[in-house]
Amino acid sequence: MALIVQKFGGTSVASTEKIAAVAKRVIEKHREGNRMVVVLSAMAGETDRLIGMANSMQHIPDLREMDMLISSGEQVSIALFAMAVKAAGYDAVSLLGDQVAIRTDQMHTRARIAAIDVERINTHLEKGKIVVVAGFQGVTDAGDITTLGRGGSDTTAVALAAALKADACEIFTDVEGVFTTDPGVYKKARKIDYISYDEMLELASLGAKVLDIRAVSMAKRFKVPVHVRSTFTNTIGTWVVDEEKIMESMLVSGITYSKKEARITVKKVPDQPGVAAKIFLPISDAGILVDMIIQNTQDGGLTDMTFTVPRSDYERAMQILHKVAADIRAEDVTGDQEITKVSIVGVGMRNHSGIASTMFQIMSKEGINMMMVSTSEIKVSVVIAEKYTELAVRALHDAFALDKDNMPLEVD
Ligand code: ADP
Ligand code: ASP
Ligand code: MG
Repeated sequence: MALIVQKFGGTSVASTEKIAAVAKRVIEKHREGNRMVVVLSAMAGETDRLIGMANSMQHIPDLREMDMLISSGEQVSIALFAMAVKAAGYDAVSLLGDQVAIRTDQMHTRARIAAIDVERINTHLEKGKIVVVAGFQGVTDAGDITTLGRGGSDTTAVALAAALKADACEIFTDVEGVFTTDPGVYKKARKIDYISYDEMLELASLGAKVLDIRAVSMAKRFKVPVHVRSTFTNTIGTWVVDEEKIMESMLVSGITYSKKEARITVKKVPDQPGVAAKIFLPISDAGILVDMIIQNTQDGGLTDMTFTVPRSDYERAMQILHKVAADIRAEDVTGDQEITKVSIVGVGMRNHSGIASTMFQIMSKEGINMMMVSTSEIKVSVVIAEKYTELAVRALHDAFALDKDNMPLEVD
C-alpha cells in the first residue's frame, strides 16, 4: 500500500465544483488502495484578496496579524474538500498547520519549517481516512500561526512527503508540468519530462513560479522525487529528480523571466574604499536582498553603482539610499521599476562557451537593450525593459530551439 502526497494549487480548487472534481480524483487513488494525504492552497485569488484587505487596514500591516488573516484561505478550501469526500461516501479529515503540527520559526509571512509531527496524520490514515492538510501555514513554538511565503503550499507538500516518507509527491497545477518557458507567454513552450533538482532550483529562483523554490530545495535535501502535473488531464507531467537519473543533458533547458525586481543607481559616488559597504549595509540591515550589482568604471574619481532589489522593497530601499547618498556625497539616486530579468538556464552550460554571446546576439538582433548582465555556471541573466519581456523570451526560445524535441549536448 503506497502513501501518496498530492498538492492542488489555487486554480485547481477555484470553485466548489472544482473542489468536488479534485476530491473525486483523490478518492479514485484511495480506492486503489493508497493512503492519501492531500495538501491544498486557498481558492484562486483568495490570498491576494486577503492581502488587499490587510493593506487597506494598516499602511504596513502587522506581520503576525497578516499571517492570522492570510492563513484563513486554506482553512476554507480544506474544510470544503473534506465535505466533498464525505458527500461521496468516503471518510476525510481536514487539519490546519498547527493541528498537524507543522512547526516553524517565527519569521512571519516567510517562515521556515523546522519540524513536522506525523503522528496525528498517521493515526487518521490508519483509520482509512483521506487526510487534508492546509498548505502554506505552520505554527511557532509559542503557538502563533505563521505562513511560508507566497506559493508556499508546494513546500508544505514536499515537507510532508519527506516527513511521512511518502512513496510519491505530486504537485497538481493548471499546466501539464514544467515547460521550457512559461506556456502562458509562449505557446511553443515544450514540456520537460525530467529535470534535475539543481536546474529546477535555478528555474524557480529566476521566476518559473510553477514550483516554489523552497519546495525544490527541500525535495533535493530529502531526495523526494516530485511529479509536477495537470489537475485537468491525466497526462504524465515533469519529474524533478537527482541529476544522475537524467540520461540526456540539455544545453539550455529553460528560459525564465521575473518582473519582481527593480533597478536602482546611486550616481557619481566617490570611488573610495568603504563606500560600497556604506551603501549596502543599511540596505541589508533593512532585510532587503540585493541581487545583481554593477560598478561602472571610474571617471574623475567618481563612479556609478547600479543594482537590483525586490520590487516590493523598492520604496523602502529608495528612502534609505537618499539618506546614504547625502552622507557619502553621491550626486543622485535614480530607479526604474519597469524592468524584467530574463534568464537562460541549463546544466549543460557548465562545459560550453558561447552561450552568453549567442544570447547577446539575439537581444541585439531584436533591438533590445541589456541594462545589466550576470552569469553563473548554469545560467545567464540579463535585465531589460519590462515591455520587451515576451519578445525576448520568444526570441531566445527560438534561438536555442527549445521547441524541438531535444537539443542534446554533443558527445566529445
Ligand atoms: P498553483 O496555483 O497550482 O500553485 P502557480 O500559478 O503557482 O500554480 O504555477 C503555475 C503557473 O506557473 C502556470 O500557470 C504558468 O503560467 C507559470 N509558469 C511560469 N514558468 C513556467 C514554466 N517554466 N513551466 C510551467 N509553468 C510555468
Ligand atoms: N495561497 C498561498 C498563495 O497564494 C499559497 C499557495 O497557493 O501556495 O501564495
Ligand atoms: Mg504555486
